[in-house]
Amino acid sequence: MNCHLNLPQQRLVINVQIGSRSLLWLGLTLVMFGTTVAHADDKAGSASSRSVPLTENVLFITVDGLRWQEVFGGADESPMNKDFGGVKNLEELRTCFWHDDASGRRQSLLPFFWSDIASLGRVYGDPEQGGSCRVANPHKFSYPGYNETLTGIPDPTVDSNAKKPNSHVTVLEWLHQREPFRGRVAAFGSWDVFPYIINAERSGIPVNAGWQPLDTAGNDPELAALDRLADELPRYFDNVRYDYFTFRGALAAIQRDQPRVLYVAFGETDDWAHAGRYDLYLDAALRTDHYIRQLWEAMQAIPQYAGKTTLVLTTDHGRGDTRVEWKSHGEEIPGSDIMWIAVMGPDTPSGPAKDVSVTQSQTAATVARLLGYDYHADVPASAPPLPGAIREVP
Ligand SMILES: [Zn+2]
Repeated sequence: MNCHLNLPQQRLVINVQIGSRSLLWLGLTLVMFGTTVAHADDKAGSASSRSVPLTENVLFITVDGLRWQEVFGGADESPMNKDFGGVKNLEELRTCFWHDDASGRRQSLLPFFWSDIASLGRVYGDPEQGGSCRVANPHKFSYPGYNETLTGIPDPTVDSNAKKPNSHVTVLEWLHQREPFRGRVAAFGSWDVFPYIINAERSGIPVNAGWQPLDTAGNDPELAALDRLADELPRYFDNVRYDYFTFRGALAAIQRDQPRVLYVAFGETDDWAHAGRYDLYLDAALRTDHYIRQLWEAMQAIPQYAGKTTLVLTTDHGRGDTRVEWKSHGEEIPGSDIMWIAVMGPDTPSGPAKDVSVTQSQTAATVARLLGYDYHADVPASAPPLPGAIREVP
């Protein structure tokens, strides 16, 4: 259990808050003085002629199967035991994550999410705020969920996790087809199906996923060392690498290539839940929060990204809500459609999305809209952007 991550993290979060608050304030000042930018470079003619947001880059992150129950309530008492939660050391788990109040529990589980993302940005799906956020496809498992998130279309015929090249065009590919984003979109995923979901072959987007080596160019000694480590470590999941490797690949891409759209798909939360280990599921959630904070901080230290980058963070599905079914999800398991989305950046108002109902399919158009493009108009079958995620979108 790595909950010692909590200790140094608390202090670092304060520094990040100061930094990002002043950057956001600068962004707000520019909006008030009416700074506008027009995209004249879109060949398809679908870019808006309206003023566009300040966002120039998007960090788009998914955390596989992380339940709304933990996001909003922190550690859930019902699987915190040996029988239903597979917990090996209950005392240690409680020391790490248990508080009597939900705000203490969620803060210790997801410190960056609750200190920064939720206070500086907007969170959808909090039932305490009257929010609702749902999967719109009928299947409630991974490939259909990622397809819905990335294309904006809850296509019921996408009904398998098989390694089939996606016939649909994701918003990543749609952006990649536009001149400002050509060669500036990249993806890292822990699950080895992402090259198919994003259709790396057709889209031309580099997708590094599963146990693929990170040092693809063969010239980075740090990534090469990580690749050797990945070769030597026991692999608990055949088709999902440890999220640490995904995180390090994404971090290196930020520092080396500075993609304008970076998609990062973490996976361990889902796999530890399926394995019936609630302790390791919580541990993975905390570590993922730590990775997200580091990716965000790394971006804020680079001029290409500082004050001009929006984080869009979500999941691919919910899971069951009962003591037994927390492990799994799908059409037959009630609650698997309930999820959450968070957005933080210079164009996003702060505060929870109160009394708002949204769906997973609204994420794709939100990502494009943040970058000044009307994806929903170009792809009418897709859902519109999230209401209230961007100041100019009603
Ligand atoms: Zn999943």
